[in-house]
Amino acid sequence: MKNASLPISIEKITKKYGSTYALDHVDLEIRSGEFLTLLGPSGSGKTTLLTVLAGFTRPDGGSVKFGDTEMVCVPPHQRDVGMVFQNYALFPHMTVAENVAYPLKIRGVKGLQAQERVERSLEMVRLGGYGKRGIDQLSGGQKQRVALARAMVFEPRIMLMDEPLSALDKQLREHMQIELRQLHEKLGMTTVYVTHDQREALTMSDRIAVINFGKIMQLDTPRAIYERPLNKFVAEFIGESTFLPVQIEKGIARFSNFSFKTLHNDSRHGSALLMLRPERLKVLGEQENSNSEFNEFSAQLVHVVYQGDSSLLEVKLPDETVVQVRMPSIELQNHQNLLPGALLRIAVSVQDTVVLSAEGGTS
Ligand code: ADP
Ligand code: MG
Repeated sequence: MKNASLPISIEKITKKYGSTYALDHVDLEIRSGEFLTLLGPSGSGKTTLLTVLAGFTRPDGGSVKFGDTEMVCVPPHQRDVGMVFQNYALFPHMTVAENVAYPLKIRGVKGLQAQERVERSLEMVRLGGYGKRGIDQLSGGQKQRVALARAMVFEPRIMLMDEPLSALDKQLREHMQIELRQLHEKLGMTTVYVTHDQREALTMSDRIAVINFGKIMQLDTPRAIYERPLNKFVAEFIGESTFLPVQIEKGIARFSNFSFKTLHNDSRHGSALLMLRPERLKVLGEQENSNSEFNEFSAQLVHVVYQGDSSLLEVKLPDETVVQVRMPSIELQNHQNLLPGALLRIAVSVQDTVVLSAEGGTS
């Protein structure tokens, strides 16, 4: 069963509280059936944007269209959107089935038809047979699934989710991420998902909109956001990184005595930032050589921090700049000389030598 889904078109949506912009002229096109994640730090405007889509917040200006229909003045209950919040917002005095049936009840769907849809919805979230239970008899993960079943029961064409997993512990959260994603693939409704957890966003999304201070900083696939961030804010928010201030000339980025070949063999020149992701750096063995697809530099080992699956090496360039290198812990044994003070040769592929403009970051 695939629901008909709808594209969402957001144009110049603005919302001010006092003198601060919660949303600052946001433009965003969400494709029909897409799983789009709003990712940003606390206070960046994620919830405000979601509640504008749901109809709980009236924007100061701008337009929201579902398909071709302008929605800004349409009240929430006429919007045909399902919504799931972080804190479940279930009715504690009702049974599981009564909770799930509630959206049908307010839409006038009753009797056997309602019962069947409730049961189907509960089966969808793997809670078939739980209908008669009380809410307080459920675990956190089960409560969140009831909230999801309730949001899906009237087969909305748009699903909005605001940090629905953040109250769950890590293991359950990661399990639910995959379940939600699979459910989305089955049902195909346009989904706008909010999180401040970058890994969750990378795991679940077709595309990610990184948001800060009520502005979209970048909109792209998880891979592009991670590997080709547009600015320092996005780069830092989405993963670990070291930044070196560089001068670019003819595709070569210079830092101190080092030069790095970059992918940007274009007109770019002048001041820029070089982004190095720790796990994309490789410590070369003593006999090992890299080839022309790589940049190589040497640095002094400061220390190694064992972190289980991987280990973090901090190395120092001659000017004292610290660069982080992440290595699978299993590879530690391949290197004899990982003692503080050792001089290491480090390689990074030209592909992973990413140049960001020096401006544009907000941190
Ligand atoms: P997020 O969900 O990304 O944490 P929010 O959308 O909740 O961010 O908030 C964005 C900004 O708007 C914040 O600065 C917040 O303090 C402000 N804000 C949100 N709701 C209100 C409100 N009802 N009254 C005043 N300020 C608000
Ligand atoms: Mg929020």
